[in-house]
Amino acid sequence: NHQVLLKSRPVGWVTEENFDYVAGDMPVPGPGEILVKNKYMSLDPYMRGRMNEGKSYVAPFEIGKVLQAGVVGEVIESHNEKFAVGDHVSGMLGWENYSASNGAGLMKVDPDIAPLSWNLGILGMPGMTAYVGLMSIGEPKEGETLFVSAASGAVGSVVGQLGKIMGLRVVGCAGEDDKVAWLIDELGFDAAFNYKTCGPVYKKMREVCPEGIDINFENVGGEIMEAALWQMKDFGRIILCGMIANYNDTEMTPGPRGMAVMIQRRLKMQGFIVSDRPDLCGEYVQKAAGWVRDGKLKYRETVTEGLENAPRAFIGLLKGENFGKQIVKLD
Ligand code: NDP
Repeated sequence: NHQVLLKSRPVGWVTEENFDYVAGDMPVPGPGEILVKNKYMSLDPYMRGRMNEGKSYVAPFEIGKVLQAGVVGEVIESHNEKFAVGDHVSGMLGWENYSASNGAGLMKVDPDIAPLSWNLGILGMPGMTAYVGLMSIGEPKEGETLFVSAASGAVGSVVGQLGKIMGLRVVGCAGEDDKVAWLIDELGFDAAFNYKTCGPVYKKMREVCPEGIDINFENVGGEIMEAALWQMKDFGRIILCGMIANYNDTEMTPGPRGMAVMIQRRLKMQGFIVSDRPDLCGEYVQKAAGWVRDGKLKYRETVTEGLENAPRAFIGLLKGENFGKQIVKLD
């Protein structure tokens, strides 16, 4: 049973030196516990925050301990009447090949509905995040303009497609030309641009959202957020989902300039954590299974093979090397 431990806390950018890939003991499930053979593991931007010390909405990872992740696996031994050998489960387990668990927080998943790894992406936490943010804060109305940053990613790609299903005009940005092409050609975005090559982002934002933005789904922060803010319409809503542009900063960066537009245009800006709304998460998974089946929701993932390559893939995720949801396939 191999495992990845947190070796040290990163200062600034994460490096492979912050991780330890070790041969651990095979976990032995106790009374009431199950043994899970982990098949797919999710890598997510929030993990960068958990590598830091200090208080947040989840506890930090501990030095010398196995890192945690969303995992899908198969039950291979069970001392818990709720789970049988052969069941597939999804939930928070370790960066490891085998995990013992008392079953708390694990959900059974049906391998016949969709490929197992999809439970970590479009049918899992990132998809739920898109839905919870849009429905609980976005107040979407047909014909409105929705802008989403990191639009080709796990969350952003679902945000944009949900926007289209709801009859919105959808605009997004991403950091590679092939990602931008995918947004327009495959996902049906009305406009999209490469924020790295488009010149001043605020000028581009005016060009692609000439009538302004009603809903900004913010995944990135920094310059992109500032450009979206200035293009907001009166009574617009700003959904603060993530600020990945700042996760490796060592100093506080200046906030978006021109925050006075918040007042002039009576904007509403609110943050959220996906787990705030378990009701909407359940509602989303029900609907998403149908949308995926009918081809209304498309999905793309980047699959890295082998637990030993997970640290490198995680660093790549923070740099935009993933195209769609970043998954690790375990041996
Ligand atoms: P993604 O699959 O979108 O992967 C991250 C992407 O962010 C990269 O591929 C990269 O794409 C983009 N990115 C990285 N750095 C920058 C930068 N400096 N400027 C602009 N874009 C950048 O990740 P997720 O979909 O899983 O997460 C998206 C956001 O949602 C994150 O901020 C995350 O923290 C947040 N989140 C919040 C949750 C909540 O409950 N509030 C739950 C889940 C996620 P590109 O090539 O386009 O640059």
